[in-house]
Amino acid sequence: MNKGVLLVISGPSGAGKGTVCQNLCQQNPNLYCSISATTRPPRQGERDQVNYYFLSEQKFRDFIEQGAFLEWARVYGNYYGTLQQQVEKKLNEGFDVILEIDTQGAKQIRQNSREAIFIFLLPPSMEELWNRIQGRGTDGPEVIKERFAAAYLELQEIWDYDYAVFNENVPNAVKNIEAIILAEKCRIKKDRDILSRFLEEGDKGDLSLHR
Ligand code: 5GP
Repeated sequence: MNKGVLLVISGPSGAGKGTVCQNLCQQNPNLYCSISATTRPPRQGERDQVNYYFLSEQKFRDFIEQGAFLEWARVYGNYYGTLQQQVEKKLNEGFDVILEIDTQGAKQIRQNSREAIFIFLLPPSMEELWNRIQGRGTDGPEVIKERFAAAYLELQEIWDYDYAVFNENVPNAVKNIEAIILAEKCRIKKDRDILSRFLEEGDKGDLSLHR
């Protein structure tokens, strides 16, 4: 069985990463959305072990010390991290795994020379980004200001990514990301073993017959 591919999806708060990733995973049974750990308190409607593993700061620090995270970062004053074991297990089972993480986390994965596809999700316009951050309705004015400033900084990191996808509407963004995954799976570099085996089959036959 082929090991799955690791997809890293980043983008500013308000780009719609959550919805796009959720739709991707719902529509593609071979895709698994990694569940991150965080010290942020749950928002209304969020459930432990579904949206995040909601941890205490102490527990999160213990996990850091144990080396349990593939990457982790402090975002808006809270810790967020990807649990290594969970991701490896799913990849080994053949699932393609999506990490919806911030640019600091993506940088760690890049620095560890981990093979992954890096996708940056963009809002349709800056104006729309502002509206979306304001319109979320779950955060206070200070948090909104902080999120917009952080979003602006995050956008500057786009140059390190492999692909940019504008989220003008969710179905199109999903389609574009599906196309990226498909194209990546057809890369010669990726399927070297399969291709070598395919070519070796030719060596077994008497090719002179076909000349
Ligand atoms: P939120 O609190 O809105 O769910 O997420 C805030 C930010 O943290 C988002 O940019 C999200 O992508 C990022 N984030 C969520 N999980 C992780 C993670 O496991 N690692 C990192 N580095 N960032 C994460």
